[in-house]
Amino acid sequence: MELFMPERVFFEPSALKYPLGKELYEYFRNKNTEIIRTTAQNVSRMIPGTTEREKFPRAKKTLVITTKKGTKLDVCKPSADYEFSLVTNCPGNCEYCYLQTAQAYKPYLRTYVNLEDIFDNIKSHIANNENKLTTFEVASSGDPLGLEHITGSLSKTIEFFGTLENARLRVVTKFDRVEPLLGLKHNSHTRFRFSINSRYVINNFEHNTANLEERVEAASKIAGAGYPLGFIVAPIMRYEGWKEEYMELFDRLKEKINSVNSIEPITFELIQHRFTPTAKEFIIKRFPGTKLDMDESKRTLKWGKFGRYKYTYTKEHAGEIKEFISSLITKRFPQALIDYFV
Ligand code: SF4
Repeated sequence: MELFMPERVFFEPSALKYPLGKELYEYFRNKNTEIIRTTAQNVSRMIPGTTEREKFPRAKKTLVITTKKGTKLDVCKPSADYEFSLVTNCPGNCEYCYLQTAQAYKPYLRTYVNLEDIFDNIKSHIANNENKLTTFEVASSGDPLGLEHITGSLSKTIEFFGTLENARLRVVTKFDRVEPLLGLKHNSHTRFRFSINSRYVINNFEHNTANLEERVEAASKIAGAGYPLGFIVAPIMRYEGWKEEYMELFDRLKEKINSVNSIEPITFELIQHRFTPTAKEFIIKRFPGTKLDMDESKRTLKWGKFGRYKYTYTKEHAGEIKEFISSLITKRFPQALIDYFV
């Protein structure tokens, strides 16, 4: 797929004190990209457009080069012990993305250039966990591979984790440009997962991301380079013909992936579609013709992370999804591990 290039880039003054901040400034000076030096609080009002529908697509083409503040890392269950960010948001435009709520008022992309501080903070979280293995998720607030051709920061992070005995990195992506990562000294300390879904979900809701063939091709390259491999099937949706389409998905995956010599068992993480009332409001404003099924009467209300209610499938429907998708996986990938279903 075509590589992302922002329309405009904001540089926060603090970012220019770091080597990566300076490198990125030089990089964008040589591109046809508008550069604006300002502080973070000015960014939202400087993005062109007046209505949500006008502003949102422009925000998704805006990159802010900034620094990560604070040292407390959030817990990231069930995927990892902690999460940290190299980027927030991504060039993709998935209608159901949870950032519709979490970053509702700041839908622009951010990348953090103070890698030295981020790595020091990770080391101190590992030290606090005595001699146990500590896992870190790097893609819970965005997709770092989507910006890697600009920042290079995921590569540096993978090599940093390659040197750590008591820590493992977990990445997930819907992008496919993995070539710069293939020759890195990762030491098999990074589990690389690809987000996959049925034809209907990818075609209707996952705009500006790599298609399934591209993701699966990238997955086989990553496994070939010795990274532990995984897949996240999310969000799993029920719609007319969902069972046939998910079966087709795993048949296609088996064709491509079964010949891959993965050094550790392939993992699968299964996440059903859910939405919050706030997300629904934003999605309808940003994607007025959306086909996303957000009919509350067919769902169950559950208390979710960050103090928000979310609508999940009913217990009966969720149970059917779990059982059906798990059986598709175990029949085709008997050695694989299903980490969780939520
Ligand atoms: S690729 Fe991931 S982070 Fe980016 S919009 Fe889609 S779901 Fe959100």
